[in-house]
Amino acid sequence: MPATPVTTLVLFDIDGTLLRTRGAGRRAFEEALQDVFGWRDGALAGVRYAGETDPAILAQVCLAHGEDAAFARAHATRVFAAYTRRLEAALRDPASRGEVLPGVVGALDALDAMAGLGAVRVGLLTGNVREGARLKLSAFGLWGRFAFGAFGDEVDVRSDLLPLAVRRAMDGEPGPARSVVVGDTARDVAVARAHRERAVGVCTGPAYCRSELVAARPDALLENLSDTGAFLDACGLDGRSRPRCRPTRSISRPSGGGPP
Ligand SMILES: [Mg+2]
Repeated sequence: MPATPVTTLVLFDIDGTLLRTRGAGRRAFEEALQDVFGWRDGALAGVRYAGETDPAILAQVCLAHGEDAAFARAHATRVFAAYTRRLEAALRDPASRGEVLPGVVGALDALDAMAGLGAVRVGLLTGNVREGARLKLSAFGLWGRFAFGAFGDEVDVRSDLLPLAVRRAMDGEPGPARSVVVGDTARDVAVARAHRERAVGVCTGPAYCRSELVAARPDALLENLSDTGAFLDACGLDGRSRPRCRPTRSISRPSGGGPP
């Protein structure tokens, strides 16, 4: 009797992995802080927010303003309502809207073809609040490309996003699943590591993330997603949509180099 096939869940981070906004997210967050608390522009100065969940960013900013985590939690609903309202407007501004990162659409097309054969499911694993994720991805026509997701406002600890994503992906179905987390920061790698799952690092995030990402030793490291074959290989998939067991390897590229 043949073994039950393993379903591979490919879980994408958003910012710096699928797309880059040109300041829309930061601008909207700072405007929301001004709307709700009256804190002036620049409230995010000095906050390293790449790879953080949106609620964790809010907690950091509150701490910098002498407020504690309970204060941040108490005001989160109002702040994120203001944030998503501001984000929607900021994403309409071509100057701050940003772009989809290289190779993303091709990678999603290839995964879709595999998903159609039943071996792969494609979802989101992101620190963005759900509505923020929807707005950012919808601005580029990508929201509908993901079958499921786990979002920053649904957990207290980022690593808890992975089991939440798995539950949603499998939706009560039996059968083994393995996960691949695709992200631009060491925090994305840490989520995969916390659950002994595979991490694919992609160097398209903020420049300051690169050295930390490399040091986190993802199972594979790609300059960007332009080479679809290399990306599928990094995920442990092949063109026939059959998950492969292969030794971990690292694909390192020099800074500023082309696609692998
Ligand atoms: Mg990111």
